[in-house]
Amino acid sequence: MDSAPDRTLSTTPVGADLRVCPLPNAETQLVGVLGYPVRHSLSPIMHNAAFRHLGLNWVYLAFEVPPESLPDALRGMRALGIRGLNLTIPHKEAAVALVDALTPAAQAIGAVNTLYWHEGQLIGDNTDAEGFLRALQAAGWQPGEPALVLGAGGSARAVVYALKKVGCRVVIANRTLARAQQLQRAFGAEQSLPLESQALRPLMPALQLIVNCTSLGMEPDSEAMPPVPLDALPTEAWVCDLVYRPVQTRLLQAAHQLGLRTVDGLGMLVHQGALAFERWTGQPAPLEVMDKAIRESPIH
Ligand code: NAP
Repeated sequence: MDSAPDRTLSTTPVGADLRVCPLPNAETQLVGVLGYPVRHSLSPIMHNAAFRHLGLNWVYLAFEVPPESLPDALRGMRALGIRGLNLTIPHKEAAVALVDALTPAAQAIGAVNTLYWHEGQLIGDNTDAEGFLRALQAAGWQPGEPALVLGAGGSARAVVYALKKVGCRVVIANRTLARAQQLQRAFGAEQSLPLESQALRPLMPALQLIVNCTSLGMEPDSEAMPPVPLDALPTEAWVCDLVYRPVQTRLLQAAHQLGLRTVDGLGMLVHQGALAFERWTGQPAPLEVMDKAIRESPIH
């Protein structure tokens, strides 16, 4: 007698108790990421590993959507009943005007990285800020003495918002000082400085945390590192780099050599993704599975 055709998805196992997942069928729920470009994104690997691990009939895809097509793409999301989306460069700010309501974090940061449905309304959320905090806290960091945030772009906005929310004093250093001052005013940070070693040195002994939110050190310029005198930090200080290509940036390598505590950029990526996963599915995200899938991915 012929056996029934195998309708299960055969994949590389991620996580010990991989469960059987149906092939996409008429009941499959769709989520994904919109970006431009987007083919470098690690999010599909992370989320699909989580769906497989939990045996959920969901799939996560990446959609390359140019800026002018974002309104059409979100109309498509509404028409097709897509369950949720992540937004990445260049869509995070533009989406603010295209949703039915914003969470307080998305409103304050002025950027949306996660869309989900709540009582028929399309909600724009920002999980970058909370994801950043959770990554630090998972590594053992606790809010304490002042933090220095390097950069004043989109990710710095989320990080400064998060640090102020947990009561940290924050100094912002940026190549373009006027942008640091603008960010300082927006979130009530304590000080703004130019991103120069000499200007930052006097501050170092009092710091508990440095977060690199600039793109310095990112491939292909992975030999670059922000001009911060790490040797003047207290030995118990933390250095966090949001750059995750490469994972061990020059900044993190230098901090490690000095015996400082470090947190890499994949931590925030996984935690912001886990928060989005929970908004969409209503289930706790399998953090370890998502982290492992990304760290073992051949893409980086
Ligand atoms: P962005 O909005 O474009 O901001 C870039 C920042 O880097 C600005 O402050 C800019 O300074 C500074 N910068 C760029 N080139 C510089 C240089 N040569 N010297 C000094 N400063 C320079 O970018 P973003 O979205 O904030 O992203 C920044 C980095 O964080 C990227 O590497 C991104 O991949 C990473 N990121 C990681 C996560 C994660 O989950 N781990 C999340 C978001 C972003 P000016 O203001 O002077 O131009």
